[in-house]
Amino acid sequence: MTASDIVQINIGTLLIGVYLTAVVIEGFLSRMRSKPRTGETRDAATCVGLGLLSALFNGAVAFVSVGALFWAADLRVGTIPTTFATLAVCFVLDDLRFYAHHRIAHRCRWVWAMHVVHHSSTHYNYAVALRQAWTKHFTGTMMLKLPLVLIGFDPVAVLFCGVVNAAYQFFLHTQLIDRLPRWFEFVFNTPSHHRVHHARNPQYLDANYGGTLIIWDRLFGTFEGEQANEPPEFGLVKNIDTYNPLRIEFHEYAAVLRDQLHRGIGLRARLGYLFGPPGYSHDGSRQTTEDIKRLHGVLPPAAQAVEAN
Ligand SMILES: [Zn+2]
Ligand SMILES: [Zn+2]
Repeated sequence: MTASDIVQINIGTLLIGVYLTAVVIEGFLSRMRSKPRTGETRDAATCVGLGLLSALFNGAVAFVSVGALFWAADLRVGTIPTTFATLAVCFVLDDLRFYAHHRIAHRCRWVWAMHVVHHSSTHYNYAVALRQAWTKHFTGTMMLKLPLVLIGFDPVAVLFCGVVNAAYQFFLHTQLIDRLPRWFEFVFNTPSHHRVHHARNPQYLDANYGGTLIIWDRLFGTFEGEQANEPPEFGLVKNIDTYNPLRIEFHEYAAVLRDQLHRGIGLRARLGYLFGPPGYSHDGSRQTTEDIKRLHGVLPPAAQAVEAN
């Protein structure tokens, strides 16, 4: 075991301790404010269990993507020394990388099958932040980190930025914080913005993919503000209603497999079921998020006409 392994294990242990303490304090404060919703404690226990298992499993197979980063370091075009300023630049670029990864995770079913785990709770609290998939190193989107290493950033700096970003995002998962100062809400992702991201209301679908900065959503047209007259309803378009960890982790992979076992469908349909948006179907029997938005009048009529063609 190297010194860097020991540092990583200590940081990981420290973060898990902070996260679990926050879950307990938030649970206590929420109960002082209002009655817990049905199943909230059981759901939180499920989330924490999934989180601990994902930390163990993803830690054990992290060499897949970490190895790729160090392999890419041998091919980089230059070397960018790690200073406070370059680390800040690396963080912003890695946050843009996170935006791209997160948007793909919602629009490509192969990656959604992993990310759906995080969205499959009907509650919204710090415990839900820990509800993570065990398969994130196998989706291929970790490769989006390679360009940062290829242009010269140290792989350790890139990984460090990812850890800080994930820690920031943990604290977005709460209903105890309403709104932060306007300038902060404009630049940074906040509990309000991320509540929208976890909501199943048609007007909130496919919005607010940002990690630490929300400016990417504003720039790329995916921002949606939380409206006082439209409180977020949390969960999936079709909730799975289970505490079974294996079903939570693998239900969408099983659904993909079932679709691939359809007889008599062409290659285009098979690729659609694997890489198309969630809700894709070869015969139009299911609804994508666009279909749901059209049905509820969220997409404007002009867009309806163009996209229906
Ligand atoms: Zn998401
Ligand atoms: Zn989240």
